[in-house]
Amino acid sequence: MCDRNETKDAYYLPHLTWPEVDALRRRTDTAVLPFGAIEQHGPALPMGTDTLGMIAVARAAAREAQVLCAPILFPALSAHHMHFPGTITLSEDTFCRVVMDAAGSLIQHGFRRILLANGHGGNEATLTYLAHRISRETRGRALVFGIAELRKIYLTAEIDKLDIHAGIGETSSMLYQQPQLVRSDRIEQPTMTLDRWREALLARVRDDPSLLRYITLGLPPVHEISSNGCITYGDPHRASAARGKELFDAYVRAMVAFIRAWQEATGTEATV
Ligand SMILES: [Zn+2]
Repeated sequence: MCDRNETKDAYYLPHLTWPEVDALRRRTDTAVLPFGAIEQHGPALPMGTDTLGMIAVARAAAREAQVLCAPILFPALSAHHMHFPGTITLSEDTFCRVVMDAAGSLIQHGFRRILLANGHGGNEATLTYLAHRISRETRGRALVFGIAELRKIYLTAEIDKLDIHAGIGETSSMLYQQPQLVRSDRIEQPTMTLDRWREALLARVRDDPSLLRYITLGLPPVHEISSNGCITYGDPHRASAARGKELFDAYVRAMVAFIRAWQEATGTEATV
């Protein structure tokens, strides 16, 4: 994570001094915590695809909304990818403890509005549970901005291709955000072997996008359904940096709008 050319980001916690955080907490009560995964993303995309991507989106949104972006974890919940070397998964218990401790620290310092920004499906249920716990057990409030929002933006064009992992969408995102990390020579469409009932639902998903929820619920370990770790019926060769930019801009816009709506609904005064 050492890049001599990286410029200082005035809303990104790892770049700030304590007096700068002190000044920021007097202007805003909001912190965005990005979550992703360290998990295999097929033969062409890096392990950090989800975390790197969500940090980039959260940083851009935080700068625009003038709130804090505080990444606290690189790995998260990826048990279903453990067949593939390099994947790191945390236990639910460890994940919950780290998130509660980190959110508690930020809340203690005045960032009482915690947005859990999620870019990895495997984290969604646990982050939703943690948002409830933060709101119930601390002086803070938490919401999840996650997979539901991501799907609205991300999957529209490819919704009937189950393009959820290292497919056209994620390859496009990485080609836009960090093309130097994409092994373009290794992009390949997987052979998928999904249960028949999921395939039957997939045929109807364009008419009823809510079916996607049932198709992805309790998916088997990834190596049992995909030949190379990608989950898509689309051809990732169709990915492009232009599509990645569209997705990035739309996601940042949606996150900024979500933060502003939340702040407007409940007041924006700093609590320090
Ligand atoms: Zn991913």
